[in-house]
Amino acid sequence: MLKERGIFSIWGASKIAFFVFEIAIVSYFIFNPSENLQSFINIKLFAISFYPLKDVAFAIGLLVLFILIALVLFNRYLIYNTSFFVMVISFYGGLYFLKTAHATDISLLAISIIIFALLIRESYRLAFYDELTSLPGRRALVEDMAKLGMKYSLAMIDIDHFKKFNDTYGHDTGDDVLKMVATKLSEVSGGGKAYRYGGEEFVILFPSLEVEQAYVYTNLLREIVATSAFDVRKKHSNKKIYVKISAGIVQNKPEDKDPFATMKRADNALYKAKKAGRNQVVKA
Ligand code: GH3
Ligand code: MG
Ligand code: MG
Repeated sequence: MLKERGIFSIWGASKIAFFVFEIAIVSYFIFNPSENLQSFINIKLFAISFYPLKDVAFAIGLLVLFILIALVLFNRYLIYNTSFFVMVISFYGGLYFLKTAHATDISLLAISIIIFALLIRESYRLAFYDELTSLPGRRALVEDMAKLGMKYSLAMIDIDHFKKFNDTYGHDTGDDVLKMVATKLSEVSGGGKAYRYGGEEFVILFPSLEVEQAYVYTNLLREIVATSAFDVRKKHSNKKIYVKISAGIVQNKPEDKDPFATMKRADNALYKAKKAGRNQVVKA
């Protein structure tokens, strides 16, 4: 639930201090046992026993699980919180079956594997997905272009007069519009996949599609975007505005020496769409 703020900062230092403090307190009570603390730890809360787990420890475990369930229900970091949920169960399971051979080893191994998988997933997301729109980014596009077959189509998409939009409504509203457009583009049909190429430019790859079919799907997206109202809240007044997109679309040719050559032709077609008055799709 805490924000990532680095280790070499006042935030990082206070996090480390917290753990050092925690370890110090526990060590203190190990070497100087206190009667009060002992009786608190041995308190009976449940009718059944979770030996060797103390009831207090079990109650804390339950509390953590409830918090995690609430986070899973309300939070969008579903994968992370469900993983933490499994980790907590593993952890308490390992302690509960303390006397069973290898139970603790298996529990720790399970936790390590989950953390490792989360780390890999997180670094993958950071590398391949765009922070603002959650679409796959340019790196993912380059990677996926290398996997394309003999025939494919590609659309290069650009928002119309977006600079003017930013100037009028502000950069934050511009960001919201980018997210909205990205969401619409991500719902492309025909097996297409949308990428944020950079700024307000997007690419859609249509593996194994003829340019005519790809045109139909891209033009449908253009229509959907052009007819989707965007609410601008400015000084208590609600205003509905519409953004438009232009696109250039191509099918690969045997002469194209690589997908980038194909993309260049899509870019030229996009330029023609802009010249011809925008809010349209032009085939190369
Ligand atoms: P055209 O119809 O010819 O494409 O006009 P345009 O104004 O959209 O074209 P141009 O490429 O000159 O402007 C792109 C603008 O997109 C510039 C920049 O302000 C805006 N932009 C690029 N990336 C972002 C972003 O991440 N957030 C926001 N809010 N604006 C962005
Ligand atoms: Mg542009
Ligand atoms: Mg533009």
